[in-house]
Amino acid sequence: MSHKTLRGKAVAGPIREDIKWRVAELGKHGWIPSLASIEVGDNPAAKLYIRNQRRVAEKLNIIFEEWQYPEHITTEELVAAISAMNVNPKITGIILQRPLPNHIDLGVIQTAITAAKDVEGMHPTNIGKVVYDDYILGPCTSLASVECLKATGMELRGLEVVVVGHSEIVGKPLGLHLMGELATVTVCHHGTRNLAVHTRRADAVFVAVGKPGLITGNMIKPGAAVIDIGINQVEVENSEGALVKKTVGDVDFDSVHDVAGWITPVPGGVGPVTLSILMRNTVAAVEAQRNAYKAGMRAGD
Ligand code: NAP
Repeated sequence: MSHKTLRGKAVAGPIREDIKWRVAELGKHGWIPSLASIEVGDNPAAKLYIRNQRRVAEKLNIIFEEWQYPEHITTEELVAAISAMNVNPKITGIILQRPLPNHIDLGVIQTAITAAKDVEGMHPTNIGKVVYDDYILGPCTSLASVECLKATGMELRGLEVVVVGHSEIVGKPLGLHLMGELATVTVCHHGTRNLAVHTRRADAVFVAVGKPGLITGNMIKPGAAVIDIGINQVEVENSEGALVKKTVGDVDFDSVHDVAGWITPVPGGVGPVTLSILMRNTVAAVEAQRNAYKAGMRAGD
């Protein structure tokens, strides 16, 4: 791995090796991880995620099944479909593809997926267990971001860390995961008075906001690790002067690269690691289901 640019592929490699081994072990006992992907309507962004998830799952011998529902499905109908998946023993993990149409109640759907099959780690029970630092299925992007920081070799205990963004899906669980590692954590959000005052004193900065160029080189302490979680589509001019779409993070890569000790690129940074954590959760879910089954067998003896 080159110093400075922290590539997701290198971080994900050992995670995927571990998954392969665990899938093979489960297979010896007749347990096969199987993911059900739920998509509502027809969204090109969701299609891209699904294609990537299928590709990675199949490489790891995880079954990947796509369930597509019409745009006009109601929250109640979707809950009924999920309830059937919850009790289907052939489905061991469920992924809810985003975005969902506005009329669907995301909170209701997230809670409808049984915590035992919630491989995205978004069910209130699973999030709650993160607070107790005693979880099996944690939120994927947050865990992936911590893996990226660990790959730098920095000692997390006592590290000054700043998280920018406090969403339920990324920033909040990330703050909790980092506290679990005994880092000293500051969480910034749009109410923060002077963002640069915080980021400039941090040994590591995580950014999950959704605003391209939010963090620039003059906001970073020399040698710090910068983990860019943001994914944004911007229009840039190509060499012929035409406007083309480009995927960028929340960090101004060039100026931060000059100052930081480490930086994750977008694309190719946190994204591939998140996908690997999703697969690791899928395997962890089956292991937990197998343990619960064995415990039930013993209880029934
Ligand atoms: P979100 O729900 O929109 O949350 C954005 C957060 O940023 C909010 O907490 C918001 O605070 C805060 N914020 C807004 N303006 C700010 C500012 N000027 N300074 C500091 N904080 C500010 O988004 P999300 O779901 O967390 O996603 C964030 C980004 O990560 C997006 O670009 C998304 O595409 C990306 N993402 C990447 C992955 C991955 O695997 N790489 C996974 C998930 C998301 P308030 O709520 O107080 O306004």
